[in-house]
Amino acid sequence: MIPVETFAGRRVAVFGLGGSGMVTAEALRAGGAEAIVADDNAAAMDRARAAGLSTTPFEELDWRSLSALVLSPGVPLTHPKPHWSVDLAIGHGVPVIGDVELFARERRARCPEAPFVAITGTNGKSTTTALIAHLLRHAGRDVEMGGNIGRAVLSLDPPQPGRHYVVECSSFQIDLAPSLDPTVGIHLNLSEDHLDRHGTMANYAAIKERLVAGAKTAVVGVDDPLSTAIADRIEQAGTRVVRISNRRPLPHGFYYEAGHVVEAATASATVVGDLGGISSLRGAHNGQNAAAAIAAVRALGLDARTIMAGLKTFPGLPHRMELIGRLGRTLFVNDSKATNADSTAQALASFDRIYWIVGGKPKTGGITSLEGFFPRLAKAYLIGVSTEEFAATLEGRVPFERSGTIAAALGQATRDAAADGAAEPVVLLSPACASYDQFRNFEERGDHFRSLVRDIPGLVGRGER
Ligand code: ADP
Repeated sequence: MIPVETFAGRRVAVFGLGGSGMVTAEALRAGGAEAIVADDNAAAMDRARAAGLSTTPFEELDWRSLSALVLSPGVPLTHPKPHWSVDLAIGHGVPVIGDVELFARERRARCPEAPFVAITGTNGKSTTTALIAHLLRHAGRDVEMGGNIGRAVLSLDPPQPGRHYVVECSSFQIDLAPSLDPTVGIHLNLSEDHLDRHGTMANYAAIKERLVAGAKTAVVGVDDPLSTAIADRIEQAGTRVVRISNRRPLPHGFYYEAGHVVEAATASATVVGDLGGISSLRGAHNGQNAAAAIAAVRALGLDARTIMAGLKTFPGLPHRMELIGRLGRTLFVNDSKATNADSTAQALASFDRIYWIVGGKPKTGGITSLEGFFPRLAKAYLIGVSTEEFAATLEGRVPFERSGTIAAALGQATRDAAADGAAEPVVLLSPACASYDQFRNFEERGDHFRSLVRDIPGLVGRGER
């Protein structure tokens, strides 16, 4: 844990007692602050009382005596409307911040030379974060990884010289971190998301921009117009910008082309990453993630040889095009994290002959945007409440079955793929839907699929022979 000493002797309100909120309260207390906690959920309040935290109702507090309100990133700051605790704080002129801001202040106060990599973007954050942590660890560096991935940032070990922090930041966390100052800030891409919480695309983009604007070195993806504008703007304002692309060669920066990441500088272009044969980094979208990760670790002094060796052993993250195993020529891939059509598009673009398990609680537009990939689909297996909607989209264009459950779909797809003459048919769970109709979350859905696949007689697991 990182005791928050920058608030020692002061009173701080903490709202939202999910994983990071409890850690925040404990870290404030450990640093000598008085943390007063609240949550709209009674069970969370019981846990707080059991942990000995102060639970005086916020309405009864003397807000003039408070130094900050630390808000959990899941609680609305501005949209659709500010949470009542935010109204209380702002009404009394109390700053509203998040745990990433507390981390940034602690690092500055204790050990500003401890390298800090912060990662954001609409898609690819977790993969890029995990890859950077892996490459640094592989090179023998001392690495702490957390934030929006895995552990809450304040549960990491305290800053000390040589300790690297690799921190994934959602837009909500950036919104609550006004003094974010990473050594390397990464912004991958921008597409429409979370507008219920950020109001407009312009506001969403402005929040993402803050993470790279405050960085010593900013790594910015330039494959969409809003992100390109961010790169140009912060460069003009004096930030060192390293551009990355997975669509086109760049004169300066890092780009992905034909399975390789190339570092381009004046009068030279060197291959710094070969992604061929690395199943955890399959697909052009992972080219963007790898280019960003490589740009970051280059900025931190890793050489091309060390990077190449590290890439080869990257295990990837579960539920993101996770290769589970192989039965004869058939691959089994778990892409349960694909909860919308955009995400599923990345998986469909990565394979040629697909037995596609799809469905769940559908998003607006369903799978109509995936029409361009229909020629790659050998057959679709429909699960969940989206079944009739997706059947209507596929009718007459892609063969399909109404499978109902993942277990039934897997049985049918395994049989059909085994009879396929293609070199490498793929049974792919990439639902393009939320999971809530049949599962608690995408992790439970993917875990279920993985365990069913592993039970298939004769299956050869990833890495086995
Ligand atoms: P995040 O943490 O931003 O949600 P992940 O790394 O967990 O991103 O990837 C989630 C899904 O998003 C992946 O399964 C893939 O479908 C898609 N994805 C990953 N990286 C990218 C990228 N760079 N561009 C577009 N889509 C991506």
